[in-house]
Amino acid sequence: MSVLPLIDTCPKSMEYGPCGGVGFDGSCEVDAAHRCAFLHRPTVPWTGLDRSTEVAPAPRTAAAARTLDALGTRPWVVADLPARALSVASIDRCAAILSGEVDAVLAGDAGSARVQFPPAYRAHLLQSRGLRVWTGLNMRDRNRVAIEGELAALAVEGVAGVHCVTGDHTRTGHRPDAAPVFDLDSTEAAALARAAGHAVSVAASPAAPPTDRRAARLREKIRAGADVCFVNHAGGAAPVRRFIEEAGDGIRYIPCVPVVVDHASADLLESFTTLVLPEDFLERVRRSRDPRAEGISLAVEMAREMLAVPGVVGVNLSGGREGAEESFAEALAEIARRLR
Ligand code: SF4
Repeated sequence: MSVLPLIDTCPKSMEYGPCGGVGFDGSCEVDAAHRCAFLHRPTVPWTGLDRSTEVAPAPRTAAAARTLDALGTRPWVVADLPARALSVASIDRCAAILSGEVDAVLAGDAGSARVQFPPAYRAHLLQSRGLRVWTGLNMRDRNRVAIEGELAALAVEGVAGVHCVTGDHTRTGHRPDAAPVFDLDSTEAAALARAAGHAVSVAASPAAPPTDRRAARLREKIRAGADVCFVNHAGGAAPVRRFIEEAGDGIRYIPCVPVVVDHASADLLESFTTLVLPEDFLERVRRSRDPRAEGISLAVEMAREMLAVPGVVGVNLSGGREGAEESFAEALAEIARRLR
């Protein structure tokens, strides 16, 4: 058993791990030959300022206050931004399709394109086209000083929320030549984003080992400053309900709903080996004579089931595929329309 400090044994230098990419066999997402460094250790308690017991909460940006006031008054529909990386034209086209249809787009980390416009610039492009932005911020590519700069710019831009993730390692994805940073992890980033006045979201992966400690880890993120939890694909509404019951209140939940509208997007989702989808979900799309219509119907059905779970304030329509950006944007808009 390793006696090194966790940050020296985790390839992402995480202090408050584990990440959501732990394999079902306990292997490390970055190096399958090794076990995740956190598996045999108890949940790491948050040692910074405990925001969950704050008597006089720190001020929020006006946009964050609007988000927090609105969440819970009606179901929110957030959609992954399907736009092509580094393309203003693609952002424009997707924004035109999604504007007025979804409550916000989640513009964040992308497995298919490690090089993206800087988060605050992308948020500005989208918001100036009428789309509310929930910015995803990963810790792979920027140190804490650069993250602080992004958070300040995002506060000026007035984004709806900031989604703090540790992010995939550079060894995965198409830019293994880049040095990974991981100066902070998602929990530490949540604290920083909260201090900057943002509405802060974090991710939880109930289906990833150690499944019996995922709720406890989320509670530490709440103490660090998280307001909202995006729940990754865990197999449908029933597992999400169980996770929320275990994790408890003190945070609002927005579960992810998979959007699969063709064989290629089914294959892509299947390649993410740590995601759990309801049994037969992908096969129903593949077997259908009209995969797009079937995928949209399945997403609407699952979203409604998720929204019926106590504690859930919205859904995140999750999907997209390189080369089919606008087609995906149209599917996301169609699902959002049906959910209204
Ligand atoms: S699975 Fe994630 S948290 Fe665990 S050691 Fe690997 S990178 Fe670190």
